[in-house]
Amino acid sequence: MAIDFTFPPEIDDLRLKVRRFVAEVVRPREAEIEKRENDRRFLIQSIIEMRVAAKDWGLWLPHMPKEYGGMGVGHVAMAAVSAEAAKSAYGPYALNAQAPDEGNMHTLLHWATDAQKDKYLRPVCDGMVRSCFAMTEPEVAGSDPTLIETRATLDGDTWVVNGHKWFISGASGAAFAILIARTEDEPPIPQAANTAFLVDLPARGWTVVRDVLTMAGHHNHAEIRIENLRVPKENMLGGRGQGHLLGQARLGPARLAHCMRWVGQAEVALDMMVDRALKRFAHGSFLAEKQGIQWMIADSTMELYQCKLMVLHAAYKIDRGEDFRSEVSMAKHFVANALNRIVDRAIQVHGALGYSLDTPLARMALHARWARFADGADEVHQWRIAERTIAAFKTDGSTRAATGGLPV
Ligand SMILES: Cc1cc2nc3c(=O)[nH]c(=O)nc-3n(C[C@H](O)[C@H](O)[C@H](O)COP(=O)(O)OP(=O)(O)OC[C@H]3O[C@@H](n4cnc5c(N)ncnc54)[C@H](O)[C@@H]3O)c2cc1C
Repeated sequence: MAIDFTFPPEIDDLRLKVRRFVAEVVRPREAEIEKRENDRRFLIQSIIEMRVAAKDWGLWLPHMPKEYGGMGVGHVAMAAVSAEAAKSAYGPYALNAQAPDEGNMHTLLHWATDAQKDKYLRPVCDGMVRSCFAMTEPEVAGSDPTLIETRATLDGDTWVVNGHKWFISGASGAAFAILIARTEDEPPIPQAANTAFLVDLPARGWTVVRDVLTMAGHHNHAEIRIENLRVPKENMLGGRGQGHLLGQARLGPARLAHCMRWVGQAEVALDMMVDRALKRFAHGSFLAEKQGIQWMIADSTMELYQCKLMVLHAAYKIDRGEDFRSEVSMAKHFVANALNRIVDRAIQVHGALGYSLDTPLARMALHARWARFADGADEVHQWRIAERTIAAFKTDGSTRAATGGLPV
């Protein structure tokens, strides 16, 4: 039997070490940060101190290879590390494994030239700078990157870019952006129209219009005006017309990295749900003894179990170099929705306390909402999943290959 759901001892030690690190270093800081809600200076100082501690604990940059100062753990091990780290919103920042830098690091590792890696990848890995990924535009559906209107035209040795982006996470203060723009007028296929560029920031022609205020508050999701921005030819990332390919390659592991963090958040919510149900007394018994509450606990437990299995299996396929698109799509859709349901049930069991900001649940619910449409809306994943299931049936006379290709 080759199926083994245990980790090698060194990965299990790492997982438990991250759990201790979050409990002993990150959580106490999180409480302080939340008390001083609009104190950005304190937030930055806290992240720097947590990062110094992460280095001392040997927990720096788990997802990157050793030559970049990382720990070189694969995607399966990363599933365990990220789920533990994300039990606090600041855990991934402490380890330098936060979105969007984590996805950008993977992108640069696979697509950048050696010179680009030295200039852009190393400083992000060292934690000296932050980056952003600029693709979505307010005027066209972000779900369909073939519609991108931001345009880059070649003028001698320089690309001149004009366009409009929004929801660019981390853009204010980023040292560079990976920018997706249309370069091809008559591409062989619609997916070959866009190209990725590395843009040094701040830059003339790149204007942060505002930090878009969301239902979860201000979180540095910027609207950007791009007017006659000049990008040197050598700053093209990947080849001409490969922007879509690069975006897709980036999004696979980046989506799964989100799922890993969401598993951690869902576990926090379920733990809180049970803890509260054991302590709260009403109508002659504790909430935990009431069937209506037990159903919520049972449903959440089954869903979290499914989330964990789906994430681990998708990560296993990425580590083995197998086609992971379906498994990541299914995991992204399922985990995003399960997270929303589990957090909502936890709020229900807490009553007014759950609705207050005295527990992390209300903030978790607000953040969880974007999981269902960002990095691939539910319906787009469902469309792709159905396409693959139908294709599998047409090819094999069975849908088996579409359900993870598992040997059952
Ligand atoms: C918190 C947050 C952070 C983000 N960070 C970044 C970032 O750093 N960089 C970046 O470039 N973008 C970022 N985004 C943008 C995000 O990637 C887009 O929101 C996402 O791609 C969806 O695009 P859209 O918002 O334009 O929605 P649309 O594409 O307009 O879709 C709206 C809705 O239409 C429906 N829909 C779309 N297509 C189909 C279909 N084929 N079938 C059925 N229904 C469909 C879905 O219900 C979908 O939710 C971020 C968004 C959020 C909320």
